[in-house]
Amino acid sequence: MAKDPNVAKPNMGGKYKAEHDVDSWTSPNCLIAEACRELQAESPEEWKKLCEQKSEFGWTLEKASVCGRKLKQHVGVYAGDADCFTSMGSMFDKVIWKYHQVDVTKNQAAEETYEKVTLPALPEGAIASTRIRTARNLKSLPFTVNMTKAQRLKLEETMQKVFAGFDSEFLKGKYHPMDGMPEEDRVKFVDLHYLFINDDPTLELVGCYDNWPAGRGIFINENQEKGVFIVWVGEEDQLRIMAMAKGSDVQAVWDLFYTGVEAVHKGVQALGDEFVFDKTRGYLSSCPTNIGTGMRASVHVDLPMFPTKQAVKDYVKTTEWYVDIRGTRGEATNTEGVRRYDVSNKARLGSNCVEQITTMVNGVKALLEYKPPADSFVNASKLAMEVVLAQPEYAFYKHDKTGAKEDLLKKAIEALGASSH
Ligand code: ADP
Ligand code: MG
Repeated sequence: MAKDPNVAKPNMGGKYKAEHDVDSWTSPNCLIAEACRELQAESPEEWKKLCEQKSEFGWTLEKASVCGRKLKQHVGVYAGDADCFTSMGSMFDKVIWKYHQVDVTKNQAAEETYEKVTLPALPEGAIASTRIRTARNLKSLPFTVNMTKAQRLKLEETMQKVFAGFDSEFLKGKYHPMDGMPEEDRVKFVDLHYLFINDDPTLELVGCYDNWPAGRGIFINENQEKGVFIVWVGEEDQLRIMAMAKGSDVQAVWDLFYTGVEAVHKGVQALGDEFVFDKTRGYLSSCPTNIGTGMRASVHVDLPMFPTKQAVKDYVKTTEWYVDIRGTRGEATNTEGVRRYDVSNKARLGSNCVEQITTMVNGVKALLEYKPPADSFVNASKLAMEVVLAQPEYAFYKHDKTGAKEDLLKKAIEALGASSH
């Protein structure tokens, strides 16, 4: 729609800035843009307050919206600290509603109790590896998109104390700071899918990679009999706590993950700090898509029936399972030429970890059970046949009028176990 330059700007008391002109953003329809537009229309008072708001650690609408304003985005917003979710709640709650379909005024989030839970089993065979991670942030510091170098180093120092206090033999291990990490170690950890990389332009723009690699690092457990236990320090969230293992034993991965989260939590509390948790919004995170449980349970699974990531995404939309499909080398990587995908729970708010993992398990089962429609198989076979018959040595079949060509095709299809018509 063409913009009318004469349309009056909302009254900002003379402080109106270009970044408040949502229609001029690179992503004028991302979720934060929609939220701002609604707020402008519904409550100019609240909108004005939002434009002037500064959160506990100095986050503003200008900083929160930078990705939506300058990049192609779906969500387009980051929180710079836990306080943003309340002090800038007029906008964040709208984004949360749009993304999670959860009304935070009605939602009740539950804190983790660390009690034993029982999970449904994943199918065996096609699953290469299973990983469960969660996002956590400490109350005493802003989020990583909004940290000074000194705050990054403080976080790292705190976490090194926490890691040193682990007493379970399956959790104890070593912290590897990224500052000074030999390049061969870094590459090895990335190839093992243990370590994060600074390759995301969105995170870069919002400030997540400022002062890189100071204050960043990875803790890895020593005894990996029960799986690999890892804590990322200083990525998109202050902490990403995770467990992973080859194969599909989601219960074993969960058990290691959960005892690890509990150990980190106790260590943080022993130092007088706490994870940020909000009674209606759950565990808070810099990206509103991660709030709630903060958990993403994923498998790397072979799905030879699906030629592209988009084909998997399109299919899951036809099922009742709310799962996310990614490439296997991280969220932003492409999947061309491989048929192994990362399948995980998409919901994080409004349900608990067990429900979210159950959805992931059911989604994976549905994907593994998928059979392409017989019609498309027959059509593909006919096409393959035409390609073969184009070879000069098969000229007899190509020009045959006796039906030998159709006969061959039927036999080929039957041999592959599919019914032909
Ligand atoms: P998140 O940010 O949710 O942790 P990303 O999609 O950014 O996830 O991926 C982070 C890293 O975790 C990547 O190296 C990815 O390959 C790895 N990873 C995710 N799920 C699995 C899995 N099931 N098995 C092995 N590695 C995994
Ligand atoms: Mg990520």
